[in-house]
Amino acid sequence: MTIRRVAVLLPYPFDRAFDYAVPAGMELVPGAIVTVPLGKRMMPGAVWDDVPDETLPDRRLKPVAGMCDAPALPATLRRFVDWVAQYTMAPRGEVLALALKSNLLQRPPESFGWAAGTPGDRRMTASRGRVLAALAELDRPDTVALAQAAGVSAGVVRAMADAGFLVPARRGAATPAPDPDHAAPNLSPEQAEAATVLRNSVAARRFGVTLLEGVTGSGKTEVYLEAVAEALRQDRQALVLLPEIALSAQFTTRFAARFGAAPTLWHSGLTPSVRRANFHAVARGASRLVVGARSALFLPFADLGVVVVDEEHESAYKQEDGVAYHARDMAVVRARLADAAAILASATPSLESAVNADSGRYAHITLAARHGGAALPAIAAIDLRAFPPPRGKFLSPVLTDALAATLAGGGQAMLFLNRRGYAPLTLCRACGHRITCPNCTAWLVAHRAPAGLLCHHCGHTEALPETCPSCGAAESMAPIGPGVERIAEEAAELFPDMRRIVMASDAIASPDDAAAAARAIVDREVDLIIGTQMIAKGWHFPDLALVGVVDADLGLSGGDLRAAERSAQLLHQVAGRAGRAGVPGRVLLQSFAPDHPVMRTLIDGDLAQFRRAEAALRAPGHWPPFGRLAALIVSAADSGIADTAASALARAAPPPDEALVLGPAPAPFALLRGRHRRRLLLRTPRNVAVQPILRAWLERADVPRAARVDIDIDPVSFL
Ligand code: ADP
Ligand code: ZN
Repeated sequence: MTIRRVAVLLPYPFDRAFDYAVPAGMELVPGAIVTVPLGKRMMPGAVWDDVPDETLPDRRLKPVAGMCDAPALPATLRRFVDWVAQYTMAPRGEVLALALKSNLLQRPPESFGWAAGTPGDRRMTASRGRVLAALAELDRPDTVALAQAAGVSAGVVRAMADAGFLVPARRGAATPAPDPDHAAPNLSPEQAEAATVLRNSVAARRFGVTLLEGVTGSGKTEVYLEAVAEALRQDRQALVLLPEIALSAQFTTRFAARFGAAPTLWHSGLTPSVRRANFHAVARGASRLVVGARSALFLPFADLGVVVVDEEHESAYKQEDGVAYHARDMAVVRARLADAAAILASATPSLESAVNADSGRYAHITLAARHGGAALPAIAAIDLRAFPPPRGKFLSPVLTDALAATLAGGGQAMLFLNRRGYAPLTLCRACGHRITCPNCTAWLVAHRAPAGLLCHHCGHTEALPETCPSCGAAESMAPIGPGVERIAEEAAELFPDMRRIVMASDAIASPDDAAAAARAIVDREVDLIIGTQMIAKGWHFPDLALVGVVDADLGLSGGDLRAAERSAQLLHQVAGRAGRAGVPGRVLLQSFAPDHPVMRTLIDGDLAQFRRAEAALRAPGHWPPFGRLAALIVSAADSGIADTAASALARAAPPPDEALVLGPAPAPFALLRGRHRRRLLLRTPRNVAVQPILRAWLERADVPRAARVDIDIDPVSFL
């Protein structure tokens, strides 16, 4: 007698699926989520498409233990998991873990709340009256919410339930569906044309990628929401990816205003119960519009019609830990597997996407004008060699004069410095000793609020020492260089009467904080905004007239492949915050190299020219996007083992006619979170896949077991 068998993929770092017997009476479809025994443990898993091994004797097979009360993972998601795994070279189970967290599996409890009943005991009191009044305003509130709204104790509510004033009732079918025609905007002719192209790409129900390039404030969001509306009209689902969860607040409000219903959110900041409810709503198809971080790609969409990647050039889309995937690239794959449209939106497209658009692989539409006739900001450099800041300060008199003029005229201004904390370095004035992290190759960053020294890589903290740990000199430790907190201090001395806000992840830790900060800025409760890259993107601050970039040279020093590109994109985005509505915008870049190509690009506003120059630099050597890169990061707790492992890899490296291998070299962070790290880089021409070469290489190499080798395909960070 043959028994029915299924292959089950487990959300743990196994590449293979395990075979199980299907108990009589159990009906399992592909993708069904089940619990199975592995060793002595029970774990969740998903029925996968692999063919079970029929040669295995029956007695060797354990049976599936049970079915979870969760919808089966759709075929498009299963194929996506397989695809991401083979591309990133991560075990398939580890990729599945991005989609299937065991805490998501229980179907969310139906939620009940109180509705008005017909009481037997009709004794009315003032507090009971308040409860009934509050009840009329709320949708089936629970006991706590109702008591709070009425200003009574929970006991009053319970007593009213006992008396029949309140009866339990199921809450309405979660959220109302977004309505594609709720508040459609009046598009400009340029926007309307772009929207038509995007709508058609969704209506075609076929895979295709469109690069939506539009200057900051041109209405890219309004335009891609028309593509989302089209997907909703077709009864399909839409996914909008955002690079930074902090932005989701302003976006959620905007999306809700456009469609008359809030989108479903997906990011790491949600509570477990909200995550679970959202997961099930997406799987059932009940949730039609999801706005999320990169992990939203792994949601079990029932019928995905469009994927939008907003700010597609953002390096935050690259996941560095665990499965190292680039969400922009994987969004394109996700769309292809779902026969959906993909839209990549940016004011400063990545060279990757621009090259794909130029070659015709992607459709390309541009929005050249800001909405409502607003002009692009005027950008100029301040040569710090000619106009240096006063001693011990960081703002040039040219910038402080401009700030003074703007603020005196009632305008809003912003200072941008992409550095958290007070000072990036603390140094002993007597002996030159620099305070570094014990676990990382990094200086400890001085913070003032709260005060202390902090490692931005491993989280190590210590108090500022009173005497130098090296030479023992007293009161000799000095902060060197500025972070945003120090710029805020300088601004406070210069403009004591102006209302300031610091926007950095230390001060603005949640989307709610970010929303409150944005509201305060828009409502003009703030005159001067001081922030890190958190203030660069997406925000719409209509009254912002002046942006000062404290250190425009900062991003250029990294020296990696994309340092110039990334710096140009970031500064362009920052500059794009200025002058978005009525007020004309002005941007001043403090720089020691005002003639650097990046500064020239920004001042001339000619990003296409910059991209051509970058392409000319990268193409001859097959650097991305004209070739493929993979990084091998060797790490070990012991530096000798890290070296042994790195040389073992070097000895087994593929021959030069197959691929170029660079390294091994100590990683820029040679010590990170207590591990010693070495890096190797593999480069091939664009038409040669790196994965088979890497696989063979790793098989040949005799790497000590105590060392770990992490693979990063298409690396973005070279640290
Ligand atoms: P981008 O994403 O290109 O920076 P946005 O979509 O944020 O631009 O648009 C900038 C501002 O202009 C937003 O406040 C947006 O609501 C507004 N806007 C753009 N297009 C329109 C339009 N057609 N009608 C009304 N408001 C618009
Ligand atoms: Zn550290």
